Amino acid sequence: MPGRILVVDDVATNRLILKAKLSTAYYDVLEADCGNKALEVAHRELPDVILLDVMMPDIDGFEVCKQLKSSPETSHIPVVMVTAMGSPEERIRGLNAGADDFLTKPINDLALFARVRNLMRVKMMFDELRMRDTTSREMGLSDFLESLDHSDEGQETVMLSPPDCEIGKSWRESILENLDVKVIGTLSEREALNISSLELPDAYVVSQNMMENGDGLRLVSALRSKPETRQSAILFVVSDGTVETAARGLDLGASDYIMAPFDPNELVVRLRSQLRRKKYSDRLRSNMRDGLKMAVIDPLTGLYNRRYATQHMSKIIDRAVESKGEFSVMMMDLDRFKLVNDTLGHDAGDLVLKELSRRLQENVRGVDLVARMGGEEFLVVMPDAGRFVAEKAAERLRSSIESEPFILKSGDTLSVTVSVGVAIGSAINCDADDLIKQADQALYRAKDNGRNLVSFFASAA
Ligand code: GH3
Ligand code: MG
Ligand code: MG
Repeated sequence: MPGRILVVDDVATNRLILKAKLSTAYYDVLEADCGNKALEVAHRELPDVILLDVMMPDIDGFEVCKQLKSSPETSHIPVVMVTAMGSPEERIRGLNAGADDFLTKPINDLALFARVRNLMRVKMMFDELRMRDTTSREMGLSDFLESLDHSDEGQETVMLSPPDCEIGKSWRESILENLDVKVIGTLSEREALNISSLELPDAYVVSQNMMENGDGLRLVSALRSKPETRQSAILFVVSDGTVETAARGLDLGASDYIMAPFDPNELVVRLRSQLRRKKYSDRLRSNMRDGLKMAVIDPLTGLYNRRYATQHMSKIIDRAVESKGEFSVMMMDLDRFKLVNDTLGHDAGDLVLKELSRRLQENVRGVDLVARMGGEEFLVVMPDAGRFVAEKAAERLRSSIESEPFILKSGDTLSVTVSVGVAIGSAINCDADDLIKQADQALYRAKDNGRNLVSFFASAA
């Protein structure tokens, strides 16, 4: 999985050391020797991770980080700040500038590689989601995060698994003071895993040491692998303060870690950034789902569109051929629909199309396919329905439209009728296009014979 890492440091030896370490793990290393150069290379090369020195002669690391995070092209690139002191104030300042983590000089290899692996993983997931999502691509991450801050999507939930009640209380207080979230808590590993899906937390804060002989690392790993919680943010609290444990936490799936004892502000800032990321990826995922849905659903009626219908129809046909059964294909067309539009307006026409779709769906079985083929033409395909069943079903559909007048927005009522053409499919008449043509022919006959009728394709009659 190695990727490209930009190392920013004004001291050549520091760059050399990092480059040597990263190269042994097969990462490609880019270099920049000052803040301005860092911005230039980041924009030009779009690395996967940036290791950023804080003290530099031109612009310092905080400022570089801020600029990277506020530019749509680079805002999604994870930044690790490399500091000499690592004081709590410096960390908070860095986190507020948008940094994803800190490493203190001299750099510990284990901490370095665990963090880089974790950030690469996150970055690749986002890259993939971003690639599939047009909205976010056009919008840029920072605009998007901005919009989230003002959006009103309901409160997020944070689940705390602290080492004991006292500590849990203090976490809770700092979080509630600074973030508008709902906080729930448990001291039991089992309970943390068995939250009902209605209340699934957006983020977990999991302590390495847990009451009741719980094991925080085991909990992190279990949360990450359960389908319901796979997408949740997990902030792992390293109770023993060792780099080894932090690295294990990240490798087991924590999204971020924090070393105990910590400044409550650091908890808040890290949690806030994890919650934003979570929201961002949720949004990307739901955009993607909407996109997939759009590709198969007709927006006006909510029925499947032609594209989906032809694909699904071929599955119904395959099954029928396999079982040597029969199935029916119905084409349906509104009678004198142009008149509705011409006299009552297009909106009234749309309303008729919607209500008709609802009635069709109400009068078929779950296995039947109902689709809008375009305009005022609909297709119904019924598996396991030979002529006998089809006759009854088609008549039921026809009469479901005729029997009850449609109610318009104005309150006026309107009589609507449809004509239906039916073709019967079987192992020897199983070409989708042929069957639709046959149903169409039958439909024309129904129109010719006076409309509001069901007609069967001649050779099946
Ligand atoms: P026939 O009984 O012979 O089918 O007559 P018709 O008037 O229904 O047939 P024609 O094909 O002449 O007209 C179909 C009309 O359907 C024309 C068009 O305005 C209308 N139409 C197609 N799609 C839509 C739509 O999405 N919304 C609305 N309101 N009308 C639509
Ligand atoms: Mg028509
Ligand atoms: Mg028509």
